[in-house]
Amino acid sequence: MIRAVLFDLDDTLIDTTSAIRTAARSATAEMAPSLDDEACATWWVDPGGYFAAYDRGELSFAEQREARLVRLCSEHGLPDLDEAGRRRWLDHYERALVAASRAFDDVPTCLRALEAQPLGIVTNIAAAPQLAKLRTAGLDGVFEVVLGVDSFGVRKPSPEGFLAGCAALGVQVTEAAYIGDLLDTDARGAAAAGLCGIWLDRTGSAPTPPDVERIRSLAELPALLGVG
Ligand SMILES: [Mg+2]
Repeated sequence: MIRAVLFDLDDTLIDTTSAIRTAARSATAEMAPSLDDEACATWWVDPGGYFAAYDRGELSFAEQREARLVRLCSEHGLPDLDEAGRRRWLDHYERALVAASRAFDDVPTCLRALEAQPLGIVTNIAAAPQLAKLRTAGLDGVFEVVLGVDSFGVRKPSPEGFLAGCAALGVQVTEAAYIGDLLDTDARGAAAAGLCGIWLDRTGSAPTPPDVERIRSLAELPALLGVG
């Protein structure tokens, strides 16, 4: 029986992809007002694969952001930024990212239906910026625990974060569900750690996997868990 529910944050509860686009445009507008949204998408598309390199442990979080900014400038003929210029862009970007963080429309109803359960977040980003996004999105105070990678050390899909989330909520892994937008990192990672892994596939882009539950919207989650 599921007694506690853990969530991923980015692109699961908060529309981070939209916030990233908005923030990249906002930070770039200062130095290149004529650059259009499509050009700014270089930041989030990340053709250099720098976020993936961070995922593999080859770059730090700050290094992958710097590398993406250098790539954005070089791809669109913008002047090279010195260290102070990069710092200014990245600070602007972080503020704009937090300011643009919005919960998906299906989040409030889902969380209300689950309010009798202990709820938590396990995220591959450090906790502090994630708490700032939660505040902007009106979701602060909803979750008993918000665990960032800076507390559990090894990124999902490794089991550490899932196990830490269950321990923090005081449940066994078999009593917890974990919901996230990435099939391998979230749903399969959680399942491998012993939780009920659930893939939130908002785009419906793939067939239902044979090994984990799939939902298309968080509106489906309470019924899947037998709640509400
Ligand atoms: Mg995510």
